Amino acid sequence: MELRIAVIGAGLSGVAAARALHSAGFPVQVFEKSRGPGGRMATRRTEAGDTFDHGAQYFTARDPLFQAQVRAWMDAGLAAEWHGVIGTLERGRVTRSEREQVRYVGVPAMGSGVKQLAQGLDVRSGIRVERVEREGPAWRLTSDAGEGLGVFDRVVVAVPAPQAVPLLAGAPELAARAATVRMEPCQSVMARFAEPVPLELDGAFVHGSPLSWIARDASKPGRAAGERWVLHGSPEASREYLERAPEDVTARWVEAFAEAIGRDIRPVETVAHRWRYALPSPALEESTLFDAALGIGACGDWCGGPRVEGAFLSGVALARRLSGA
Ligand SMILES: Cc1cc2nc3c(=O)[nH]c(=O)nc-3n(C[C@H](O)[C@H](O)[C@H](O)COP(=O)(O)OP(=O)(O)OC[C@H]3O[C@@H](n4cnc5c(N)ncnc54)[C@H](O)[C@@H]3O)c2cc1C
Repeated sequence: MELRIAVIGAGLSGVAAARALHSAGFPVQVFEKSRGPGGRMATRRTEAGDTFDHGAQYFTARDPLFQAQVRAWMDAGLAAEWHGVIGTLERGRVTRSEREQVRYVGVPAMGSGVKQLAQGLDVRSGIRVERVEREGPAWRLTSDAGEGLGVFDRVVVAVPAPQAVPLLAGAPELAARAATVRMEPCQSVMARFAEPVPLELDGAFVHGSPLSWIARDASKPGRAAGERWVLHGSPEASREYLERAPEDVTARWVEAFAEAIGRDIRPVETVAHRWRYALPSPALEESTLFDAALGIGACGDWCGGPRVEGAFLSGVALARRLSGA
C-alpha cells in the first residue's frame, strides 16, 4: 500500500523532508499557511518596491550533505557566497572580523533555493493546519477555516516548536518534548536611506544596544543597488518590544542604529516585521522527533542544530526515518 504523507510547513525543513520523500516515491502533500515556500528564509518587498532579507541573513554549511545542497544551488545560480565586510559595532567603535567562515545567501532572494526544492511538489499555500486528529491508523487534518484537508498515513510537522505543540497533540510525548523548546522573538526593521550610511561594514554584530545585528542588503550578491539596511533587535529588546506598535519599534531601532554607528542618520522608508519565533534557544539535541508506531514526527531548526543548515538536516533526517531509508 502506498503511504500518503502530509507535510505541515514549507520552510526549508518541511520542503527538504517533502523533497526527499517525493524522491523516494511517496505521494506527499505539503500545507503552508503563508503565500509560498521559504518560511524564515524570507525576503520582503515593500510598497515602495524595495526588497530586504528580513529573516535569515546568511547561512553556513559544515555538514557534507548540506554542502552538496548548497553547491547544487550555486550551480543553478540560486545561492552565492556573500563577501560583505563583517565586524562588530559598539557605540561608534568598529571592529572588522577575520573572514573565518564562508557565508552564503540565496540568490536573488534568501528563499530562492527553498522555492526550487519545492518545485514539482504538491504545495497548498494559504492553508493553516489547525488540527491533526487520529482516525483509525491514520491522521485527519483540518484547516483553521474548518476545511477537511484529507486523511494521511504519516504526518511531518515542520513548524516552529511552539506552533508544533498543538499539532502534535495526538502524540503527547512528542508534544511534551516540543513544549520544552523556547524560541526567541526578533523585531526586524527594514530601513532605506537616501544617502550612503557612513559605515565601513556590510554586516555587524552589535553590542551594548537593543540591536544584535545590522546588514547592508545591497552588499549581498544579486540584490538591487540602494542603501537598504536590515536592523535586528536582540532577543531581550525584541521581547521588551514584542507587543509595541511598529512605529515605536522602528523609532527605537533607527535611534539605536544611529547610536551604534555614532552618526545621526534618518531613513526615508521604514517597515517593521515581528518574528515571534525567530531562533530556538537552545535547540533539542535530537535531530528529529518521531513516533514510528503513530506515524508522526517533527523537524525544524529547533531539532538538532539551530539555523538554516540545521533545518535542512532535520528535514532530511525525518524523511529517512519515515521512509525507513
Ligand atoms: C530574524 C531572523 C534571523 C535569522 N538569521 C539567521 C542567520 O543569519 N543564519 C541562519 O542560518 N539562520 C537564521 N535564522 C533562522 C533560519 O531562518 C531558520 O533556522 C530556518 O529558516 C528554519 O526553517 P524551518 O523549516 O525549521 O522553519 P520555518 O522557516 O519557520 O518554516 C515553517 C513554515 O511553517 C509554516 N507554518 C507554521 N504553522 C503552520 C500551520 N499551522 N499550517 C501550515 N503552515 C504553517 C510557516 O508559515 C513557515 O513557512 C534567522 C531567523 C530569523 C527569523
